[in-house]
Formats: sequence, structure tokens, C-alpha cells
Amino acid sequence: MKMKLVIMGPPGAGKGTQAKKIADKYGLKHLSTGEILRENVKQGTELGNEAKKYMNKGEFMPDEIINNMIEKKLERVKNYILDGYPRNIPQFKAYMKMDSPDLAISIEVSENELAERITNRRFCPECGKNYNLKFNSPEEDEKCDDCGVKLEQRDDDTLEALKKRLKDYREKTNPLIDEFRENGILKKVNGDGSIEEVWNNIKKVIEEEMK
Ligand code: AMP
Repeated sequence: MKMKLVIMGPPGAGKGTQAKKIADKYGLKHLSTGEILRENVKQGTELGNEAKKYMNKGEFMPDEIINNMIEKKLERVKNYILDGYPRNIPQFKAYMKMDSPDLAISIEVSENELAERITNRRFCPECGKNYNLKFNSPEEDEKCDDCGVKLEQRDDDTLEALKKRLKDYREKTNPLIDEFRENGILKKVNGDGSIEEVWNNIKKVIEEEMK
């Protein structure tokens, strides 16, 4: 499908999970800045070593680094879902010079639900699959269903880092919702339900856009 999509939502909204489902179903390239950075940290690249300083504390990376990273990706990718970018007004302005998105989906979740989701979040260090010990747990105690490897917790999924990330989301990322609305491409989706419920809400919005 031909589409340039942006997905937004506070940490714990299920953004990454839903972005993967969208990419699979509609054949879009999933561009997640968080995942690209985590992959670089794992491989010990220069970018990864720089990223580590910010990510562990739940702080944003400098805009210039992130903008350049995305610009390089968009030179090669035309149909995509952007996850984790843009995250503030300067990044939004830089992005709108690079490309023009068709649709921006904002997943809305109440804040008291987020802390519970985040502290129960785990991932497989081998294949990257995401789990939640409460809502989407592995079959065997804290081990990946596919790889059998012990699940891990992201360094920035602590309550302290979450507070910082939520504050940043409220102050820096939320204003983008108005920008996308003014561009006429914003669609809000209720993200309070289960993964499948939220997925159904998202599909409706995308299929409406495709008409
Ligand atoms: P995420 O997986 O999207 O929650 O991103 C994890 C971390 O990567 C963030 O807390 C930031 O440190 C960094 N990061 C990801 N995307 C961006 C971005 N667009 N701008 C700045 N930092 C980012």
C-alpha cells in the first residue's frame, strides 16, 4: 500500500506493538527511532555509544542526530510507518521539509494505566518480541515463546525514567497533535483497551483513509 504514516502515543501506549501490526498488514516499512537506537547500542556503534548516555535516563537525543538519521532512511523508503519521530516541534519542522505524511495516528491512553503497563513490559533480547507480564505474558515464566531466552526489561522502563519520559511527552510531543490537526491529517484512537481492541480501532481509521 502507498502510505506515509506517523504513529504517536505516550510511553506504554502500545505504539511499537501497533506499528509492527500496521507494517505487517499494509506492507509498510516500520521505522522506529527507539529500535534503531537500541540496535546501535547493542552493536556498539558510535551512534549507539552516544545514544546510551541519553536513553538510560529517559532523555531525548539531540534533534540534529535524530533528524539526520531519519533523513538518511527516507531517502530509500517511500511507504512507511514512523514510530517515535517526530517527537518535538523542531523535529516536526525538519520532518515536514523532508516529506509529507498522509496520516498521523495518536493513541490516547489515560496516565494511570501507563505506569502499570510500562513496569510490566519485557522484551526478548534475541528476536526483539515484546511482552507484558500482565496483559500479554509468555507461556513459560519470563521466557520468549519463540526463542526460549530469558526476557529482559528496557533500561528506561523504570518508574523514574518513565516520569521523565511522560513529562517530555506532555510538554514536547503533545503539541505536535495540534500541528497534525492543522495539517488535516490527525486521527485520534482510543488506546485504553486490549491489543486487539486498539488494533481494531486503528484498522478502521486506516481503512477509512484508504477509501
Ligand atoms: P522509544 O523506544 O521510542 O521510547 O525511544 C527510546 C529512547 O530513544 C527515548 O527515550 C530517547 O532517548 C531516544 N529517542 C527515540 N526517538 C527519539 C527522538 N525522535 N528524539 C529524541 N530521542 C529519541
